[in-house]
Amino acid sequence: MGKIAQIIVDVPLMQTDKPFSYQVPDDLANLIDLGSRVHIPFGKSNRLLQGFVVGLEEGSVEDLKAITAVLDFEPILNKEQLELADQMRHSVFSYKISLLKAMVPSLLNSNYDKILHATVGLSSADKELIFGSKDSVVYSNLDQSLEGQISKLVKSGLITVTYSAEDKKTLKTITYYHPQLEVLQNLEISKRAKRRQALRDFLLSHPKRRPLSELRQEFSWDQLHFFIEAGAIQTDEVQVDRSQDYFDQVAKTDFLNLNEEQAHAVETITADIGKANKPYLLEGITGSGKTEVYLHIIDRVLKMGKTAIVLVPEISLTPQMTNRFISRFGEQVAIMHSGLSNGEKYDEWRKIKSGKAKVVVGARSAIFSPLENIGAIIIDEEHEASYKQESNPRYHARDVALLRAQYHKAALVLGSATPSIESRARASREVYHFIRLTQRANPLAKIPEVEIVDFRDYLGQQEVSNFTPILVDKIKDRLSKGEQVVLMLNRRGFSSFIMCRECGYVDECPNCDISLTLHMDTKTMNCHYCGFQKDIPHSCPNCSSSSIRYYGTGTQKAYDELQELLPQARMLRMDVDTTRRRGAHEKILKAFGRGEADILLGTQMIAKGLDFPNVTLVGVLNADTALNLPDFRSAERTFQLLTQVAGRAGRAEKAGEVLIQTYNPNNYAIQLVQKQDYEAFYAYEMGVRKSLGYPPYYYTVGLTLSHKNEEILIQKSFEIMNLIKNQLSDKAKILGPTPKPIARTHNLYHYQIIIKYRFEDSLEEVLNHILDLTQDKANKDLRLIIDYEPQNFV
Ligand code: ADP
Ligand code: ZN
Ligand code: ZN
Repeated sequence: MGKIAQIIVDVPLMQTDKPFSYQVPDDLANLIDLGSRVHIPFGKSNRLLQGFVVGLEEGSVEDLKAITAVLDFEPILNKEQLELADQMRHSVFSYKISLLKAMVPSLLNSNYDKILHATVGLSSADKELIFGSKDSVVYSNLDQSLEGQISKLVKSGLITVTYSAEDKKTLKTITYYHPQLEVLQNLEISKRAKRRQALRDFLLSHPKRRPLSELRQEFSWDQLHFFIEAGAIQTDEVQVDRSQDYFDQVAKTDFLNLNEEQAHAVETITADIGKANKPYLLEGITGSGKTEVYLHIIDRVLKMGKTAIVLVPEISLTPQMTNRFISRFGEQVAIMHSGLSNGEKYDEWRKIKSGKAKVVVGARSAIFSPLENIGAIIIDEEHEASYKQESNPRYHARDVALLRAQYHKAALVLGSATPSIESRARASREVYHFIRLTQRANPLAKIPEVEIVDFRDYLGQQEVSNFTPILVDKIKDRLSKGEQVVLMLNRRGFSSFIMCRECGYVDECPNCDISLTLHMDTKTMNCHYCGFQKDIPHSCPNCSSSSIRYYGTGTQKAYDELQELLPQARMLRMDVDTTRRRGAHEKILKAFGRGEADILLGTQMIAKGLDFPNVTLVGVLNADTALNLPDFRSAERTFQLLTQVAGRAGRAEKAGEVLIQTYNPNNYAIQLVQKQDYEAFYAYEMGVRKSLGYPPYYYTVGLTLSHKNEEILIQKSFEIMNLIKNQLSDKAKILGPTPKPIARTHNLYHYQIIIKYRFEDSLEEVLNHILDLTQDKANKDLRLIIDYEPQNFV
């Protein structure tokens, strides 16, 4: 008899999704608990793999292999998270291990060494035993018999643990400057040294100790050195928590007095915290003060001694947004986004795990934050497709949030100006509570006027392709008034490509069935799927004619055109190319906020969350690209995006105006954006969905099958389709197999099968069976994705 651990093993291709049993050796027994990460020998070769302990029991250990090592002193996952993975597995068709790994910081999913650090208070005997003459040691180099002792010391806080990785450093050195006023006043500076004089004036008017980096933004090293050497600036160095200096820069703000609608929302939502309850759909027009409502809810939650998660789309996780939370809740906030290095993510995770952070603001994966005692989960812009992960495990953050909210009896708030049709329908069926904010929160701000311009009226008669004369006139008008303009060019869709005018040849990727996109900054043709890159052709690769032309449009081209039209305008461009470098996004927005540019031109990146009072004109250059995608949500997405971007205009006293250029002025999505009537759009769209049999009237599951040989792929796809058909009822509708809209990428062919259904008891079983089939040797080149409620059909 002995102790047995059930372990989910990190094997990328496993025959089964079930835990394996291992013996717990006596010396590790008091270190291993549910949720511990361990190393175990696996398979015939007994190679060491990582695994998670998901069960513990007493039993006969005779034929079992033993656990080799424990990787953490405290279990990394708690009971709630283990249960969550079990529940998620019913609708996420990937292996359990991928669900568990999604819940821990990626730093811990790779095999990094643990490093132990001595802290003050450690007895000299202990220190000698463990550290010898050093202050830190790599754990894996230690005598294993010390394990129990180390665990105790870690628990009592006398030893700290970090993980080695290039960027694991938690401390950052900041140099501060301190102006020496007397020296400054007597400092001799030549009249011609204008910058030095400017620096002296600056220092005299800013006599407080501040980070040197702030001076560096305005003055060169040479200038600073002169002052340092003259003793007019003293410096000192301080080590701080990496995130600390960021927090220090954000000024505290006060809670605003809520208007009646906002106050009602906060009261209703907070009343039921701690009781089992339905989620709340908070439908509030842009600028109605949803964020202020979130802040008040969180304030209440913290006062109850509870914690909160706020999810925002990655793209709107701007400093402007995160600062609103930091300015109210200070160091209780942890920020989680993809721009952080693995080390920084790990720091934030530890802040949460240790209970120091009580409010987590983050993108999709922040829903897994190891918070205890959650009082509220808020999902802002709940309709955003980015809440669904498009790689394994394919979970929707909204579904995970619902499970966590149920577990904690927390309030789940889904906020949006344009809720997803599914969520809005649930509110109608009273599956969700429904709360509306119908007014702009700033009493002086008015809903902007929206005008639609029919692009077809200008076909052929204008010199430039992106700007109608009406739009140019309006931009000129704002420039003369010193007001600002936001222009959006939605590049989704397949717009910028090269085509031969003689033979119609389109330059396509050799690995994918998609045209190459022209990039002027690198002077190359790029494939957005596989990364293939080549030089821009000067003659047609097919017929050698030189009539090869650039079609479609991109932000870069629009930028150049506008600069030619309005050479006096100061412009900023925001798209993936200009925001690749870390912090670039923030820099552009800050510059625009300070009024250093008149026009901000960008992709849909600019549609969300921006709150600039001086913006009075929003122009949408091409409203159509998203409309023409072969996806039943294309009208919904178009309506949501245009409403969002329209909401950037007229956020304060100055009235705002929106101009939308389109080739489809009669499309209902465009028409209803003009009326700014979400409820009318919802009603119309529900009719469309009903007649076509799409969500929310049906549930959907999408299967994507990929293979390098198209014939084999077709054969397998039909086999799988038949298998599904035989298992499901006659009421289920099975579409396909058909080639995906982009039928080949990375030299793989793709087919899809879509299942539409209402109630199918055996669906989960069938899908798991198919998942297992792809593990057969005979199918080893077949790739399968099972996507429950897919958000993207292209
Ligand atoms: P939403 O998230 O719904 O788009 P925000 O929360 O960003 O709206 O609010 C829009 C603007 O109105 C912000 O500038 C915000 O500071 C302001 N605001 C919000 N609530 C109030 C209020 N109760 N009184 C005055 N101004 C408010
Ligand atoms: Zn390609
Ligand atoms: Zn040609």
